[in-house]
Parts: sequence; C-alpha cells; structure tokens
Amino acid sequence: MEKKNIDWGNLDFGYIATDKRYVSNFQNGAWDEGILTEDATVAINECAGVLQYAQTVFEGLKAYTTADGHIVTFRPDLNAERMEQSARRLEMPVFPKERFIDAVIEVVKANAAYVPPFGTGATLYIRPYLFGTNPVIGVKPADEYQFRIFVTPVGPYFKGGVKPLTIRVCDFDRAAPRGTGHIKAGLNYAMSMHAIVTAHQEGYDENMYLDAATRTNVEETGGANFLFVTKDNKVVTPKSSSILPSITRRSLLHVAKEYLGLEVEEREVALEEVKDFAECGLCGTAAVISPVGKIVDHGKEICLPSGMEKMGPTTQKLYDTLTGIQMGRLEAPEGWIRVVV
Ligand SMILES: *Cc1c(COP(=O)(O)O)cnc(C)c1O
Repeated sequence: MEKKNIDWGNLDFGYIATDKRYVSNFQNGAWDEGILTEDATVAINECAGVLQYAQTVFEGLKAYTTADGHIVTFRPDLNAERMEQSARRLEMPVFPKERFIDAVIEVVKANAAYVPPFGTGATLYIRPYLFGTNPVIGVKPADEYQFRIFVTPVGPYFKGGVKPLTIRVCDFDRAAPRGTGHIKAGLNYAMSMHAIVTAHQEGYDENMYLDAATRTNVEETGGANFLFVTKDNKVVTPKSSSILPSITRRSLLHVAKEYLGLEVEEREVALEEVKDFAECGLCGTAAVISPVGKIVDHGKEICLPSGMEKMGPTTQKLYDTLTGIQMGRLEAPEGWIRVVV
C-alpha cells in the first residue's frame, strides 16, 4: 500500500480529513449495521440533542506502525468499555464492545495510507464519538443517536525533544463529586476552556485541578492523569471517583509493577505532599507521559527535583517501557496489542 505524501515529521496535533470514516445510526431502539463513508460532514436537525443539551461522549486512541511493519492499536477494548460507561451515565445507548473494536479496525484499515511509517514519531489518532441527533427541546435524552469514528494523522507530541511543563494549581473545578468527571464527555471539556485559556495567558502549560469538595487533594489536569514518583521510587497516582480513568495511566501502573518491579500506590494525594515528590508526569494517549517540572500554587513554586530539562529517571523508564511495548520492541501483556494488518 502506498502511503500518502505527508511530511510525517512536521505534523501537528490537528485535524486532517482522511479518505474514510465509520458511521452507524441508532433509530427505533437499534443500531443499524454501519458503513464506511467518504462524507466528512454531519447533517443533523437544528434542535438535535447534542446541540441543545450537550449529549455527547467520545474516546481517543491511536494506531501506529511497529518496528516489524504491522499496523496496530493499543487496548481498544478498554476504550469500548469506557465509552460504554460514559454512554450509560448520559442515558445514551451503548455501542456494543465487539462492534466498537471491529469498527476501529475497519476505519484504520481503510485509511492505512495515512498511518505514519515507523520511526517518524507520528501516529494515527482515532476519535470515536457518540451524540444525540433527533430534535430535543424539553429536557430529556434523545431517541436517536449517531456513532462515528474518524482518524487523523498527528505529529510527535514533543517536537525537538521533551520539555517539562509548568502547571498551575487551578482556582476553577473540573468535576463535582458524584458528577461526570469520571466519564469522557464533551461537557467536561467545555467547562475547562476558560481555565486553560487563562492558564496559557498567565504562562502556564496546564491546570492542576483539585477535588471540588475539599480543594485539598490533587485530581488531574483537563485531559491527563497525574503520576508521581516518591523519593524512594514508589509510583503514586491520585485516586478519586471524579478522575477520568486514563488507559495510559492504568497501563503505566501495570508496567511499573510487572516490568520495572516498582511499588505502586493508587490513593488520595494531598496537594500538601506534592512538594515531597521526586518526579511528576501527566499521562494520556496524546503524549504517553509529559513530564512536569514546576507546579505553581498561587505564587508558591514547587520545583520537581527532575528539573526543567528532561524527564525524571523513573518517568523515563516508564515511558521507554510502555512505548517499547506499543512499538513492538518489548513483549506486550496478553491482549494489549490489536494487529490491524
Ligand atoms: C482522555 C482523558 C485522559 C487520558 O486518558 P487516556 O485513556 O490515557 O488517553 C485523562 N483525563 C481526561 C479528563 C480525559 O478526558
């Protein structure tokens, strides 16, 4: 298969329309069989549930080329399961897990020419999403839905090398206790826009959100989970029912334990104890881990010992091991890698 003529090394994290996308519609209580289409436009009624009351959930995962030339995806079953949880919480119909995985594979296959070659650092980002399509004006769940998957090639997250981030402790809250923080809903992102725009204006890369009830514990950023390393080399990640369960973070904890023999703790993390950690990173599909160099709490600076030049040593090992598994350099745990072609 001939690859598209794309400057893979210079791609941003942006949208490029590819040849095919997957669409399935839910009507009269059932999903249709779904198709691949070349039409990148969604046409829905002006009063569609998604437009009026934000009834939409999404997922994000990647396909990439391994060292031996296969195109693979990473743990799509967990994305299917997470979208199921998201859909249930917003009273939307579940797109069945096996069909979700098949559709992901079908779309990637149909756009194989857009999957960046091995060694470019670029990947194919996969975006499944689900939204209410029929007119809804009185507040209630829609009756009709559309499930779509598009893909877009994206560049390496860190161009020209890794740069540790500077983040601020945010005065806004991301998620309420017993709210929707644990599901991947567009609404969680809509309310984070103001916080991220003002963070950028003030010179910060990201926001550290605290738990809304007590504002004493660390939750996560707008789109990535925290991972800390203690001075005695334990891996610690915050636990809270309003944190989105990152698949990258869950995979990194497994890697820490089973591949690197490190002790791991999933527990409440007080903002107060962050100053005692040796390393800090943000975990998500986009970057795997972005190291954090500095955390600013209303003028009070916490400088991680790992500094502003590179990842901390344990963060680096975690990163190298997980990306090694993803790229086929290291043996993957059973079921983590789905071969597309
Ligand atoms: C998607 C997301 C993450 C990262 O999850 P991954 O499965 O690792 O990509 C973390 N936090 C939030 C709020 C998210 O929406």
